[in-house]
Amino acid sequence: MRHALLSDVHGNLPALEAVLADLATRRIDDLVCLGDFVGYGADPNECVERLEGRIEWGLLGNHDQAVVDPSVLADFNDDAAAAARWTRQQLSPRNLAYLAARPLFARWHGARIVHASPSDPGAWNYLISAEDAEQEFEWFDEPLCFVGHTHMPVVFQWSGGIESETHEPVVQGRRDRRYLIVVPSVGQPRDGDPRAGYLVWDDEAMTFEQVRIEYDIESAARRIIDAGLPHWLADRLRFGS
Ligand code: ZN
Repeated sequence: MRHALLSDVHGNLPALEAVLADLATRRIDDLVCLGDFVGYGADPNECVERLEGRIEWGLLGNHDQAVVDPSVLADFNDDAAAAARWTRQQLSPRNLAYLAARPLFARWHGARIVHASPSDPGAWNYLISAEDAEQEFEWFDEPLCFVGHTHMPVVFQWSGGIESETHEPVVQGRRDRRYLIVVPSVGQPRDGDPRAGYLVWDDEAMTFEQVRIEYDIESAARRIIDAGLPHWLADRLRFGS
């Protein structure tokens, strides 16, 4: 089967629509969202509603948590906190309730899925380096764990310790190895590539393909400005940072 993993949509409807249009052209059996449906972007309701009926699992991200429970905003920078407060005002009661009901992690087709880190899903740790990833392998039993959260895609291969770290768009996995995979962000890439991203996992071929899609960045940026959100949130979409 071929599975699509989306993460960190962040209320960016033009990016999400481009990803969903691309998915429709491929043979994909099912999809999940690893959290951060909202926060930063100008279309939180639409992003929740586009995904809700289509995904097998939708997990809680730290920005979803922040709109549900503003008491955690003390941990956010000013722009992120402003966006979270704005998003909370915009969300329909139904969509707010949907986000509030998201689980922190799940088991899906024999893989672990979680927004930030398997060791402590609610602590929102960032898995960036091989050192960050090394200890995480002790905290899940499955051969594969998929996370989002950093918006910087990478594949860590493990065999008693980290053997490799790759940023290649297509990675051929091995059955006798374990993997921790950070999937790209749909709505706010931070790896220098401003295109929207998602991951395709083929569980028979054991491949992990990072897909990147051009989308109307100016439309997303303009909507952020028109909503009165901080300008940096629009600017960073153009740089992918
Ligand atoms: Zn995020």
